[in-house]
Amino acid sequence: AKHDGRNGFQFYSREMSEQARERETLARALHTAVDENQFELHYQPKLDLGSGRVTGVEALIRWRHPALGMVPPSSFIPIAEETGLIVDIGDWVLRTACAQAQAWQQRWQLGLSVAVNVSPRQFRQHDLPATVRRVLDDSGLAGGLLELELTESLLMHQTDAVIETLRSIKSMGVSLALDDFGTGFSSLSYLRRFPLDLIKIDRAFVAGLASIEADEAITRAIIGMAHALGMAVVAEGVETPEQLAFLQAHRCDAAQGYLLGRPMAAAALDALWQAQRNR
Ligand code: C2E
Ligand code: CA
Ligand code: CA
Ligand code: CA
Repeated sequence: AKHDGRNGFQFYSREMSEQARERETLARALHTAVDENQFELHYQPKLDLGSGRVTGVEALIRWRHPALGMVPPSSFIPIAEETGLIVDIGDWVLRTACAQAQAWQQRWQLGLSVAVNVSPRQFRQHDLPATVRRVLDDSGLAGGLLELELTESLLMHQTDAVIETLRSIKSMGVSLALDDFGTGFSSLSYLRRFPLDLIKIDRAFVAGLASIEADEAITRAIIGMAHALGMAVVAEGVETPEQLAFLQAHRCDAAQGYLLGRPMAAAALDALWQAQRNR
């Protein structure tokens, strides 16, 4: 609506309020979703590039709305974050993922870890260490099989309080990952200040591997730097054998992506591990 004059402006504000209404509608639907438990978790395998084995999974939330169908997390997580609903949703994700990982551990004894995404508001508003402690106790999952994935924006403020929270979570054996690495601002200082165990290279860089030289250089540099600092590296969004070969050649520790496995329901992974056992 790039019209000049009065009408153009009116059109523009009408469009804005429509957008606001849509958000409002989605926010209300999200409340209902929490009450009626319309969420599911899917799990994407993570492959260890040294052994070639699946060593863990990442839990990814799915919202199955009765009328709208599947709503992608990219369109509701920001609203959940704004409205504060993310705290309840995040608790549910953590509880469900840990219970599932423990069920797999008891059934298959593969030592598979589960990675859970933690959003900034969830991290700030809650006594997260106490929640993690309680969820581990309730599920029986060993802390060593849980990973929390954090984003840079979460680390940006109140550094000392954040470090204390992270230390307290780590003391339970839980690992900490920095998600979407390379997409934020001051990534490098975070690596020095926070007690992180691994870095996930954003798929924006992985996409350019074996084709765009700058992305290859950045990826090599991230891997070298992480290793020098004693951290492991996971590449996300691996879609082609060429990308995988590049990551293997440059000693990336682990990888996730459609090439290696899509996010899937827990039952589908059970079938996979059953098949693995029968081989
Ligand atoms: P993320 O944590 O960076 O998760 C990776 C996203 O990339 C997932 O999208 C995954 O399905 C997708 N993906 C995996 N492999 C490939 C690939 O090879 N190619 C491409 N193009 N995509 C791939 P998804 O599940 O739609 O989640 C989007 C984002 O929503 C996540 O990004 C995360 O930031 C957020 N999210 C998902 N689940 C949760 C949750 O339980 N809690 C919170 N706070 N955020 C979540
Ligand atoms: Ca993630
Ligand atoms: Ca990511
Ligand atoms: Ca992302």
